[in-house]
Amino acid sequence: MRTPIVAGNWKMFKTIAEAKQFAEAVKQQEEVEGVEQVVCAPFTALPALAEALQGTGIALGAQNMHFEEQGAFTGEISPLMLKELGVKYVIIGHSERRQYFHETDESVNKKTRAALKHGLRPIVCVGESLEEREAGETAAVVGKQTKAALAGADTAQLADVVIAYEPIWAIGTGKSSTAADANETIAVIRRVIAEDFGEAAASVVRIQYGGSVKPDNIASFMAEPDIDGALVGGASLTADSFRGLVLGA
Ligand code: 13P
Repeated sequence: MRTPIVAGNWKMFKTIAEAKQFAEAVKQQEEVEGVEQVVCAPFTALPALAEALQGTGIALGAQNMHFEEQGAFTGEISPLMLKELGVKYVIIGHSERRQYFHETDESVNKKTRAALKHGLRPIVCVGESLEEREAGETAAVVGKQTKAALAGADTAQLADVVIAYEPIWAIGTGKSSTAADANETIAVIRRVIAEDFGEAAASVVRIQYGGSVKPDNIASFMAEPDIDGALVGGASLTADSFRGLVLGA
């Protein structure tokens, strides 16, 4: 059985002080069992959160990293630096990074492999644009992105991989995919992984849905057989809403 995983992607929100407030509020809440919880914070908030989230059951995630261990890469953060902070998960290839910061299937692959090599769990994002969806290319687009991201990975490492299926048109728009549509595409992703790594490996990879997930719609996604959790932006920003997501998962 795959443990459900709810991850918040804070994007470029929250100062250190605001991140600490979130953690303090979470500490007032009762623990929830059976759902893995992750908060992917801006780099600047990670050290404070590593301390503040201790004992809460929420794991720490980053939103990006470079694939090299060190070197002359001004402005970049390496897997080793994230490991040192106690980071467990790292989002790779979010559509905003693909769109605004020129991430490609190739850089996503390098980062995914680097994360696995260093014992970080990648949350690899895939998803089609509205144009691609309307052209009937959803399965082909996400299949290609998934294959490219995982190329060269060891089968044994797949248990540490999380894929987030985030249709670009559903991100931050309030327009979520229907649960059935999301499940269908996620089943395609799992099939593509099975083609390259075998059924057993594909059956342990957790695949999330992302795109306008809220406390009041997460249960409908979680009810689908292939959806193992959610990657959530806007609705992950307050402790109350994050808890609502976790309880609904
Ligand atoms: P929203 O939940 O704000 O639509 O964002 C989704 C997302 O991009 C998570 O990575």
